Amino acid sequence: MIDTRPPLIEVEDLKTYFYLDEGVVRAVDGVSFTIRRGQTVGVVGESGCGKSITARSIMQIVRPPGRIVSGSIRLHREPTAADRPGDVVEITRMDPMSKEMRLIRGGEISMVFQEPMTSLSPVHTVGSQIIEAITLHQPVSREDARRLTIEIFSKVGMQQPARTIDRYPHQLSGGMRQRAMIAMALSCNPSLLIADEPTTALDVTTEAQILQLMRNLQKELGMAIMFITHNLGVVAQMTEIVFVMYMGRVVETATVDDLFYDPKHPYTRLLLRSIPKLGSKAAGTAPRLESIRGTVPHPYAIPKGCPFHPRCGDMIPGVCDVVDPPLVKIGDSQEVRCHLYTPANAPGSGEVIPLTTT
Ligand code: SF4
Repeated sequence: MIDTRPPLIEVEDLKTYFYLDEGVVRAVDGVSFTIRRGQTVGVVGESGCGKSITARSIMQIVRPPGRIVSGSIRLHREPTAADRPGDVVEITRMDPMSKEMRLIRGGEISMVFQEPMTSLSPVHTVGSQIIEAITLHQPVSREDARRLTIEIFSKVGMQQPARTIDRYPHQLSGGMRQRAMIAMALSCNPSLLIADEPTTALDVTTEAQILQLMRNLQKELGMAIMFITHNLGVVAQMTEIVFVMYMGRVVETATVDDLFYDPKHPYTRLLLRSIPKLGSKAAGTAPRLESIRGTVPHPYAIPKGCPFHPRCGDMIPGVCDVVDPPLVKIGDSQEVRCHLYTPANAPGSGEVIPLTTT
């Protein structure tokens, strides 16, 4: 059934720059996408492509000297009762330290980080930190918040939740700490959970358990998840829609099936070709594992034209190194920022969407 409700989050032409002595780093440079209610989206790309800064911009937790310089991030709230219509909050216009923004952060949008130790206070028990978050966002007593915390601990598969609640982060294993972080993120029933490489620091067994846990919780609670990762295997397991980012921009948007079976952007294709395939070596059929040639350009020296052109095997001389590619819509759900799909180079291949970046 088609969801006719407005999207939960609408990001439009978002630019988040870092002003350093050496120059300006355009960490996010004209990103646009939407996330619908209950949808799981993946954001992929190499380190430094702007995935985490996009997420931090949505949460309004970009650290100086970085700041959002333009664009918009709209949070659409649903009506809560007949006399309480839904409203639209423009997050980029809010003071990051304001009470309203703090209530959105943790209440309506929450985030799970790669390394829980950077987010959990080492001098407070994990339970007290979650109780604090619950009492900040909900009108409940500390006793009720403690009871709720034990319930959430059971839900996220914490062993002995009534005892673990009084433990300090250093007394828990990496997997248990990540479960505590997820419990904290879920404690106020957010509409959007942003998971920033939540399993990168875990061993494969614990990673599989945490991914299964997130899948179950998403089904049960109906929240949207924005899954940030460089691991395409995780993308395949977890997401419906994928945004591929390169140098601060989304270069391809596709359903997870289109991304794996019919990738369009040369960068996406190379990312997929660089995944090791189980068993092909034993069969003696495997070509050498491909890597993407070259390195991500220096942030102060972004190449003219398409920023990927120095690394791209499909580069069109005189075009790709001169003109910034426009965004082209292909079919119903795929969009790609590449000259190979502009009508001049591939007649009839798609409808050109006006360029949103400079
Ligand atoms: Fe390669 Fe040109 Fe497409 Fe950039 S625009 S990805 S250089 S073919």
